[in-house]
Amino acid sequence: MADIISFPSLLVGFHQNISSIETRISRSGRLNHFLSGEYHIQEGHRICSKCNNTAHVHGSAQIHLSHIPLGNELSTLTFERMRFKCPCCGSTWMQDVPFKAKGHFITVQLETYAHDLLEKGLSNKMVCSITGLGRNTVKDIDMKRLEGLYTQVGTDGKRHLLKPERQTTAIAVDEIKIHEGPVFITVIIDLETGHILWIAHGKKKKAILDFIEHVGKDWFDTVEAVVCDMNSDYQEVFEDEFDHIQVVFDYFHIIKNFNEKVVAEVRKDEQRRLTREGNIEAAKALKKTRYILISKRETLQKKDQAAINGKIIVHEGNLFPRSEKLAMGNKEQKYDDLIRENELLFKLDLIKQALDEAYRSRDEIEMTELISNIINICQKTGNKHFQWFARLLLNHFEGIIAHASLPYSTGRLEGLNNKAKQVMRQAYGYRDDEYFFLKLIDSSRHSQRGNQKSHRKSD
Ligand SMILES: [Zn+2]
Repeated sequence: MADIISFPSLLVGFHQNISSIETRISRSGRLNHFLSGEYHIQEGHRICSKCNNTAHVHGSAQIHLSHIPLGNELSTLTFERMRFKCPCCGSTWMQDVPFKAKGHFITVQLETYAHDLLEKGLSNKMVCSITGLGRNTVKDIDMKRLEGLYTQVGTDGKRHLLKPERQTTAIAVDEIKIHEGPVFITVIIDLETGHILWIAHGKKKKAILDFIEHVGKDWFDTVEAVVCDMNSDYQEVFEDEFDHIQVVFDYFHIIKNFNEKVVAEVRKDEQRRLTREGNIEAAKALKKTRYILISKRETLQKKDQAAINGKIIVHEGNLFPRSEKLAMGNKEQKYDDLIRENELLFKLDLIKQALDEAYRSRDEIEMTELISNIINICQKTGNKHFQWFARLLLNHFEGIIAHASLPYSTGRLEGLNNKAKQVMRQAYGYRDDEYFFLKLIDSSRHSQRGNQKSHRKSD
């Protein structure tokens, strides 16, 4: 026994047979030490739960329980588990093993270890690889962990999301696309903390109504603003349900609409027109300009300055040969050439700058003037995409102007789509939405820990 390191195993009743450790190679190619032993019959094991009589042993079955890894090597407990039979009522049962995790052939210690790794924010894949557990087992452990953190069993016997632990002054509602397809979910976020408060399938009003029912109307007493996209029905719900809440349309959504519905469409139309008129060179020049057109002028200026300073964006490879690449300049010049040659592109630029200026304003009267001016420019172009944007602004005027006094920014929403993709990937892309939603809720809290940014737009 001189070469044995011994420490408390916490496996009560299990007596390891030191002389018979068998080492096999697991499916993943790792060494797996089978620690065989005996599991002693404890008091209580033999008592019949139906008639309280003492049962006798009625056979046994060998059991393997995966246990905590020893460094990179796995361990498995192996022992005989007794079967009992009651001489009075004839009931049979298997010997209780308190250190076996419920529902899995693993020890409670291994389950706790996997749970703790998940709690630290490690991905499912990492936890599988560290513990040697299969993906479904890790998912089950994680699901239980998340249910414990974010849900409770209601009076109806079903699990429900916990109500938010605090009230807030502003929430944001947005929809994100999941599963690489046209499947949308509605997400409600506390803008003060960044915590996801609610997730629902679809992008319907019902998602909001369900949330209101979930938290209760009183919860909204402190909420002064709801930030959402203009192309949604959410505004109506909040206006119907609450008198004191102001719906605010933020810069992120305005720009998103402008870039997707106006800039992209105008550019495509112009390209088609130039091609039709035989101006192939100009059409070609427009082809790769989307990035330039949706960029802010300051961004282009920064890139040009980087080029002047000789910024190296790709370093010459040492271990893996690659040639050095310098930042390309003249982006602003290119942009200016584009808008000089094309009246509509010039208008795009004008509006982009005007929107930026309007959303910096903290004065409702000034912002009213700036937005009205934009509507004017759009209408005068006679172009259908600009006119569509003018109507969008007109129909949502109040909520846009409200930004001057309630300057909430939704930077947190911008990252949501990417976060969802990351969570899907790290969780093996499970198609179990309940799990995926809880995972998303969890990730919104994890990212908060080291990132206490203000929810107000910085000036
Ligand atoms: Zn009995």
